[in-house]
Formats: sequence, structure tokens, C-alpha cells
Amino acid sequence: MDAKIAVVPGDGIGPDIIQEAKLVLDTIGTKFGHRFTYTDTLAGGAALDAVGEPLPEETMRICKESDAVLLGAVGGPKWDHLEGSKRPEQALLGLRAGLGLYANLRPAILYKQLIDACPLRPEIIGDGLDICVVRELTGGIYFGERGRREYPSGAQAYDTMAYSESEVRRIAILGFEIAMKRDKKVTSVDKANILESSRLWRSVVEEVAKAYPEVTLNHMYVDNAAMQLVRDPHQFDVIVTTNMFGDILSDEASMITGSIGMLPSASMGEGSFGMFEPIHGSAPDIAGQDKANPIATILSVAMMLRYSFGLLKEAEAVEQAVNTVLDGGYRTGDIMSEGMRSIGTSEMGRLICEAL
Ligand code: NAD
Repeated sequence: MDAKIAVVPGDGIGPDIIQEAKLVLDTIGTKFGHRFTYTDTLAGGAALDAVGEPLPEETMRICKESDAVLLGAVGGPKWDHLEGSKRPEQALLGLRAGLGLYANLRPAILYKQLIDACPLRPEIIGDGLDICVVRELTGGIYFGERGRREYPSGAQAYDTMAYSESEVRRIAILGFEIAMKRDKKVTSVDKANILESSRLWRSVVEEVAKAYPEVTLNHMYVDNAAMQLVRDPHQFDVIVTTNMFGDILSDEASMITGSIGMLPSASMGEGSFGMFEPIHGSAPDIAGQDKANPIATILSVAMMLRYSFGLLKEAEAVEQAVNTVLDGGYRTGDIMSEGMRSIGTSEMGRLICEAL
């Protein structure tokens, strides 16, 4: 395979972790006979410093001309005084909207080696966890009509949750496609006992399910899902849900794993194009000090291999290499525990490449 990747290191630890992720991609390329070509480009604070705006047109062009985007993180105290539209974080929203990325995939993986980081009791969590939350990203209540009405008795504010069949269909299809590459189970989360948009959601998901007879589908109300996630998280494989419910549930699911430096994410649009990034921020407190955990970004590369390039063996090889290094007792500061070997960003990257 010959793939073009737009690389956006961003700010803070962004450049530190992206460097290791590229080394891992290069190692995969050599081992499996693929060629990955990178175009580095600016976004966030780095772009503000260079050209005075968080998301330059040139960056959008490079991303659009690529097969996938790999992003570090953006933001930092240096730009905190800027007003909303000039803040580095605007680059993320601009990239998601401009690239038509309507689905956010957030796996919540608890590695058996890091089980102590999980806030749930050992008998609930067993020997690990692997859930994937598929959140609709460009519709629903965050994008519906909103406003205020003034009454003599005081103001009223409203937000509207609206979903069209096509919006539900495309995210449902993605959820089922992902389930086909995993344990073939989809839980669709809604509030169909109350919300009309949820009733449409549910009927479209059921219609889509007919094309995936191998996948088991169940529906769950969002309040119950929030409770079931901490009561018995192992019942879930893929959770497909709306923008707001997914926002809340994906944070809850990631907290179960307890380790911010370990969790990758993918934002997908039409076809196989996607943007891949760790869920954490730019961690300015440890930037440039060889302290950042590069694993979330390296696992984002695994998601890129799987979902954008369809390279399943290669994705598994990266995940396996991470496991091997954790098994060896190597830890960056954020996941360090007694008796383990403390290492830095570049050593973690090097060991994962060596394991590959
Ligand atoms: P953060 O995720 O950057 O950091 C929170 C804490 O976790 C810090 O103590 C940090 O050192 C630690 N941490 C984060 N990632 C780590 C890693 N890979 N290895 C080791 N430790 C790690 O969140 P924050 O401090 O709230 O935000 C800092 C900046 O990042 C802000 O400007 C914020 O707006 C931005 N941010 C960006 C993104 C993104 O680019 N996707 C996401 C969240 C926050």
C-alpha cells in the first residue's frame, strides 16, 4: 500500500508523541511492505504563531489531499488569552467540520497490565476491557436550532435535537461495519421512550441491522446505558449513539480505563478517510521533556491502519507490540506503578518499534 498522511503535530507534547507514532508507522511500512508518505502541516497554537490563525487554508488543503490525518494535540497557556474564534482549539472543530468527519470512534481499552488504574472493583472488571463508542459528531442537539425567548416572567432558552434518516443511517452503518471487525455486537443507545428523534433513530438502526445478520443488535435507553457501563461493562462491544449521549458515555467509558495517555480516537467521514488523534490534550506541563506517554498516539496509528487503510494484521501487530512492552514492565510516568521500569517518550517509542 502507498498512503499519503497529513501530519499535524500541534502544540505542547504534540511533536513529542507524533515523532514516535511516525517511527511506528515506518516500522510497519518496512515490515509489511507499505509506503507511508508524510506531509507535516500546522494547526493550533503553532499555526497562530506562524501565520496568525489556528487553521490555515494550506492545512485544510493538505488534509483534504491526503488519505488520512494524524494529529497530536493543540492548545496551551500561551494562547489562553485569545478570544474564542482565535483559540487553537478552533482548529479541531474546523478540521472536523471541514473534512466532513461525522463519526467519532473512541475505544475504551483497559489493558490487563494497567488494571490497578481502573476505578471499578476487580470482580467487575475481570482481566481487562475493550469497548468502542461510536458517537455521531455533526448532528443532534449540538447543531440544532437554539435560542432564547423573553417573557414578562423571565427568559426561556431552548435547544433542538433533530436527526434525519440519512444522518442516522450513515453512523449506524459505520457502527455495524466496526462491529464486523470486532465481536459482532452493537448496542444502540437512545431515549426512545421519550424523544421522537430517538424513535426515528431506533427504526433506522433496525433497518440497517438487516444488512448485518451476523451482528447482534440491542437497544438501550441512555440512562440505563450509563448505569450498565459501570455495573457490567463486559456486556458491551460497540456502542452507537447520538452526539450528546456519545459525548457523555465516551467520557464515562474512558474513565473506566483510568489512563489518559493510553486512549486513541478516530473521527471518520465518508469512505475510509479519517483523522486519528489521542484523546488527551497538549499537556504543556510536560512538553519537550521526554515525559509524555506516546501510546495513545501509537494506538491511534493502529486505528488508522485498521479503519482508513483496511490493514487489520498491521493494526493488530501495533496493538500486540504495545502489549509486549507493557508486559515487559516498561512504563511512562502517567502509568507508572511500583516495581515497574520508568522510561521516557522516545524509549517507549523505540521499544514498541523493537517489539514490532
Ligand atoms: P491534558 O490532557 O493536556 O492534560 C491533563 C493531564 O494529563 C496533565 O497533567 C498532563 O501532563 C497529563 N497528560 C496528558 N496527556 C499525557 C500523556 N500522553 N502522557 C503523560 N501525561 C499526559 O488536558 P489539559 O491540561 O486540560 O489541557 C491542556 C491543553 O490541551 C489545553 O490548551 C486544552 O485546551 C488542550 N486540549 C487539546 C485537546 C486536543 O487537541 N484534542 C484535547 C483536550 C485538551
